[in-house]
Amino acid sequence: MRTEKTDIVIIGAGPAGAVAAGLLRKQGRQVLVIEQQQFPRFSIGESLLPQSMAYIEEAGFLQDVVEAGFQYKNGAAFRRGDKRTAFDFRDKFSAGWGTTYQVQRASFDHVLIKAAEKAGAEVRFTHKVEAVDVAGERPRLTVKSPDGEIYEIEAGFLLDASGFGRVLPRLLDLETPSGFPLRSAFFTHVEDRITDPDFDRNKILVSVHPEHVDVWFWTIPFSNGRCSQGVVARAEFFERFPGDETAKLRAIIGETPTLSHLLKDAVWDTPARTLTGYAANVKSLWGRNFALLGNAGEFLDPVFSSGVTIAVKSASLAAACIGREAAGESVDWQADYATPLKAGVDAFRAFVESWYRGGFQDVIFHPQPSDDVRRMISAILAGYAWDLKNPYVAQPARLSTLEQLCAVAS
Ligand code: FAD
Repeated sequence: MRTEKTDIVIIGAGPAGAVAAGLLRKQGRQVLVIEQQQFPRFSIGESLLPQSMAYIEEAGFLQDVVEAGFQYKNGAAFRRGDKRTAFDFRDKFSAGWGTTYQVQRASFDHVLIKAAEKAGAEVRFTHKVEAVDVAGERPRLTVKSPDGEIYEIEAGFLLDASGFGRVLPRLLDLETPSGFPLRSAFFTHVEDRITDPDFDRNKILVSVHPEHVDVWFWTIPFSNGRCSQGVVARAEFFERFPGDETAKLRAIIGETPTLSHLLKDAVWDTPARTLTGYAANVKSLWGRNFALLGNAGEFLDPVFSSGVTIAVKSASLAAACIGREAAGESVDWQADYATPLKAGVDAFRAFVESWYRGGFQDVIFHPQPSDDVRRMISAILAGYAWDLKNPYVAQPARLSTLEQLCAVAS
């Protein structure tokens, strides 16, 4: 079997892999990305958060993203029964980008990885990583090419950005339970034909089922008159709805008058898909000469659209550690990579848990909200979950106190 040598090898060409590749090319490193699929390819995760723009910019990809013509996004709107509220991310506690995009991931991921290629990364599409050996001085990958050839790559450092493929967690027995119950998502793209003047295409809309506080829908408008439409619930909730994925999705929307009214003229031209059990965690985000990025590490839940932001944040932190090691500094991957990354993930986790309890919903639908608190929440919803100046990031447990106050008042 032939063995190739490279400086950095990245598994997966999604946002984590592409941004890591761009950042490492800026350091002048030799970068090889192995991607099992041909791009463009479908992926879920279409509503970005403004915080992600900082890492897209840091990687040198900003112009490519801006010029791609995606739907502008400046906030998030929420509806539960007759209650409505909206957050404008430009009005937030933390400094930084207040706007971003809603993207068809097939094109967005392609834009990012083409930008990485332009910056000098080599990307091999339709090559699949089948085995990994990290016991030696340098990590070794076994890869299958599209014509069936099996070859090896030996690298100075390995980044696993394989997303839900979870290559290293599976092969190195790093998986650990996420702590969230088993949930499923059913979703599709529709030609939405929405005419409601209150519907703001510059915001993601999150609607809550009228009877089940833990069942929610996303409506993510794109720039071409279409929307991504999905529903999330515990896996067993879907069993009582007959038919295929599209029938189930439409039936649950049918139980939610605000949303079914909004989508009354929609053209359902694309069969729905489903994903179950996507929440995942690992025992460790790093090891000798390797690190896990984005979804290959931890994935919480889609409700606050934090996945791509966490993915590109992890790429930025890991690339900085690799750069410091190359400059001869000693890096403590736990203290310099895993702990700072997890701080933000844990802030998001507190909000996700509160959402499913219904407490966060009482907070955002509160009739007399405090402006200061709303700006702090707006910052977290915009992805600034690593800003320790925000009291709800520094002490996520404060959210429970806020929930109790709002529950008493409502
Ligand atoms: P991915 O984008 O999954 O990329 C991983 C790549 O690795 C893939 O291209 C795959 O083909 C490749 N790969 C896998 N295995 C191998 C292998 N063996 N060899 C070679 N290549 C391999 N996030 C948001 O930010 N906003 C949202 O609105 C949002 N909504 C979501 C809704 C749902 C229902 C779910 C489940 C998730 C959602 N997410 C959202 C999360 C988002 O999908 C992910 O967090 C994000 O795609 C992670 O990016 P990544 O680069 O880590 O992985």
